[in-house]
Amino acid sequence: MATKPANFFPQELIRKKRDGSALNDAEIRFMVAGLADNSISEGQIAAFAMAVFFQGMTMDERVSLTHAMVQSGQVMDWKKADLGRPVVDKHSTGGVGDKVSLMLAPIVAACGGAVPMISGRGLGHTGGTLDKLDSVPGYNTAPDPALLTKTVKQIGCAIIGQTADLAPADKRFYAIRDVTATVESIPLITASILSKKLAAGLEALVMDVKFGSGAFKEDYNEAQELAHSIVTIANCAGLPTTALLTDMNEVLGASAGNAIEVRETIDFLMGKNVDPRLLSVVTALAAEMLVLGDVADEVTAPHAVQGALASGTAAEKFAQMIAALGGPHDLMTNVGKHLPLAPVRHDVISPKRGVIGSMNVREMGVAVMDLGGGRHKASDPIDYGVGISDIAGLGAKLGPRRPIATIFARSEDDARRAEMRILNAITLVDETQSPTPPVRSRLTKEDL
Ligand code: URA
Repeated sequence: MATKPANFFPQELIRKKRDGSALNDAEIRFMVAGLADNSISEGQIAAFAMAVFFQGMTMDERVSLTHAMVQSGQVMDWKKADLGRPVVDKHSTGGVGDKVSLMLAPIVAACGGAVPMISGRGLGHTGGTLDKLDSVPGYNTAPDPALLTKTVKQIGCAIIGQTADLAPADKRFYAIRDVTATVESIPLITASILSKKLAAGLEALVMDVKFGSGAFKEDYNEAQELAHSIVTIANCAGLPTTALLTDMNEVLGASAGNAIEVRETIDFLMGKNVDPRLLSVVTALAAEMLVLGDVADEVTAPHAVQGALASGTAAEKFAQMIAALGGPHDLMTNVGKHLPLAPVRHDVISPKRGVIGSMNVREMGVAVMDLGGGRHKASDPIDYGVGISDIAGLGAKLGPRRPIATIFARSEDDARRAEMRILNAITLVDETQSPTPPVRSRLTKEDL
């Protein structure tokens, strides 16, 4: 734990930041220590966050903030576990239908990496990996440290939730930012994400920074700015990190929800109904992880990923991880029994023929949320069985026999509301446009 310097007043540091000056390392450590031990009030933290929101932070301040938040709790040490594989992870800024983590962890494990993936729950229109895994009966997203280590050592991957002692200052800071309109600050996002990743004891990190109508940062330039900040600070902090900027102007894959996305993951890993855009994003991110972890080079990495999928070893790793963490042993072959969907099934048919020209992906996420599959506030319960499947992508030709999507709802009323949102979320055009690649660009340390 960090020791707290005694000679500052929070209000003076807030004033200094408010007036546009940079804080030094000791001042930032003081603020973070006060965050962690509750000696700085919620109002002062909120004012500090707003000052940073408007004034920004220099790269040095961001490094200090990240380090101080890491030191507010425990840092995992994988060396003691003698894994014999590099410890690598991926973090996504979140998007609708983003089930990539569920695929990446077993693929990278099958290729020789170790992936102790610490994931979050969904809030707002984007889903959370942990909520998806909570739809699997018995799966334990909070194993004790011994079971976590054993699973990563034996299988190569474990997807779990954030533990209370991992960057606890971030937990309080994020909760305050969430209710004071200060989440969107790039320096604060950078420190928040990286403090958790550094505390997880990683050797390499790949960031999936999303842009587009379903992403947290809609604007490509802003997403680039976030990627630049994260890649810079992570590398300064000694964590080799690269970022891919990926397109969220359509739902990623064919489904959005919880159990329904685990079903899509199982199909994907077993080579059934593989969505090509999802495959490109998964392949690019997994290859990046293998390269950064020194498991493969840029030429061999994509082949290793394809091999893990084609041979079924990635699917086996997924099944083993589920069973090791308390889930059913027959999940892959008994999907209907373990991952039931809500009973009202409704195809959304466009009243007009045409081609999907654009999609408000955020609205698709809100439709899932409104069906009960997401949260308005952190304490809300989730209905794992609701969601949307067979979602048509940009450029799809719609007609009476090609629905936009299929809804799984608890009631006809819920289904009708979701249908209205989905119909309003798409714009039809006459002509098919050429598709844009889902991975727009890559940012490495060399590009900074
Ligand atoms: N995700 C995080 O973990 N932190 C942020 O600040 C934003 C997104």
